[in-house]
Amino acid sequence: MSQETFDLVVIGSGPGGYVAAIRAAQLGLRTACVEKDPTLGGTCLNVGCIPSKALLESSERFSAARLHSAEHGIKIGGVELDLPTMLGRKDKIVKQLTGGVAGLFRKHKIHWAKGLGKIVAPGKVEVAGESTEVLATKRILIATGSVPATIPGVAFDGDRIGHSTHALAYPSVPEHLIVIGAGVIGLELGSVWARLGAKVTVLEYMPALLPIMDPDVSKVAAKLFAKQGLDIRLGVKVTGATRKGDTVEVAFTAPDGQAQTITGDRVLVAVGRKPNTEGLGAEAVGVQLDRRGFVQVDAHYATAVPGIWAIGDVIPGPMLAHKAEEEGIAAVEGMAGQPGHVNYDAIPNIIYTHPEIASVGKTEPELKQAGVPFKKGSFPFLANARAKALGETDGMVKILAHAETDRVLGVHIIGPRAGDLIAEAAVAIEFSASAEDIARSVHAHPTLSEVVKEAALDAGGRVLNI
Ligand code: FAD
Ligand code: NAD
Repeated sequence: MSQETFDLVVIGSGPGGYVAAIRAAQLGLRTACVEKDPTLGGTCLNVGCIPSKALLESSERFSAARLHSAEHGIKIGGVELDLPTMLGRKDKIVKQLTGGVAGLFRKHKIHWAKGLGKIVAPGKVEVAGESTEVLATKRILIATGSVPATIPGVAFDGDRIGHSTHALAYPSVPEHLIVIGAGVIGLELGSVWARLGAKVTVLEYMPALLPIMDPDVSKVAAKLFAKQGLDIRLGVKVTGATRKGDTVEVAFTAPDGQAQTITGDRVLVAVGRKPNTEGLGAEAVGVQLDRRGFVQVDAHYATAVPGIWAIGDVIPGPMLAHKAEEEGIAAVEGMAGQPGHVNYDAIPNIIYTHPEIASVGKTEPELKQAGVPFKKGSFPFLANARAKALGETDGMVKILAHAETDRVLGVHIIGPRAGDLIAEAAVAIEFSASAEDIARSVHAHPTLSEVVKEAALDAGGRVLNI
């Protein structure tokens, strides 16, 4: 056992864990972070947000070069895919960013404990790496994240039937990729491989696409994805997947109740992720899990065991990197006696398809169900000068504001750079701004942000450019 007693041991170095460790070090806590994988950064940096966005960018450029350069008066002959280089670029970005976290740990004098962390008692974390060490600590923060889930009858074989990590590194473009689940991963990685030339069929259990998004946005998204050639079948219950040589037969029940099969050469299972507490020893020391396996915490991220906190994908709530980061910061600030806080009404959610889909705050059905009186404004990208210049006119911005106070309650965007545009809306909600505040703020011309302004003007009944 090391002689040192840490102020905090963080288990897991994803965006939740590594950011919490840095914040703790800034606050003067002597901090260690335990990571079982060879690199820091967790799901997000290694096999999640970053590699998927690298491939989304590369595949979009490939698709634009093939399909959209002629309309700009640019003739490109013989556009070819060099998949190994595309995958290599993605791997290089991941390496740079995970290496960057290691550099930040050195800068902040955070001890990187390499190995599988197990809580053997409150205040004691065993790290099983090349050798086994036990870290003594005043506090423990569980930030062990999540792992891919699957469904009965569909077992990962690490080859033809895989999850997102496999789909970030297929060695060749699938002829027919069958995606189970039209959630965020299904749509993002389905888009990547469709753009690179695969036939993509997406089987979704729910009767509507993206049911958690605002229905106006989901409707536009469904039309645009169909136009891009994604064959999304809704209301389908997958019952099994059977490997047959180099192909896989997926069995499902169609919406009319008929049992059917479909055959492809790769299957991407994207039906959600589950909290990761395997080998952690949390339950044995009294940490409570809910029925779905998430660690139960109070409003300050404290578990039932004094001295043990948890944040990120391993606790309930949206599985998003920025949510994990903010929780990590709030938990650590709370430990240091500061008023750490996360505003769950102001967490943006982005799907990086083409066009992007982004939302923050409440949807129209949520407001109706809660009986909140609201007004709405919307504006299409089609009527925006910058969108025209970009040749990216699909989509719209929709703003929901309180009918009496005009306070912004929700903003929903589908369109070019929606993921960047939503930042203004998140700040507006955080500052309790009104739609009029957005409408009266000067937005540079010509920019896509003028669509947000016009939607806010529309909420006040005085839209200008339509
Ligand atoms: P994780 O990032 O999962 O990190 C947990 C870490 O803990 C891992 O490194 C793991 O090895 C380690 N660990 C687990 N158990 C132990 C143990 N016992 N001992 C030591 N180490 C342990 N979110 C977004 O916001 N934007 C996106 O664009 C986005 N894209 C995504 C794309 C894909 C393909 C996937 C799969 C996810 C994506 N996400 C995205 C979700 C995002 O990755 C997660 O919400 C985020 O990584 C959660 O952070 P975390 O710190 O809670 O856990
Ligand atoms: P998800 O929850 O987004 O979507 C899963 C989909 O699978 C749902 O639409 C669900 O109805 C469907 N499904 C479930 N069981 C099914 C079945 N038996 N047959 C057919 N469909 C079924 O989950 P995901 O796409 O796996 O992503 C996991 C997590 O990772 C998400 O919570 C998401 O927040 C996070 N993530 C975020 C981003 C981003 O922020 N851009 C990108 C990727 C992943």
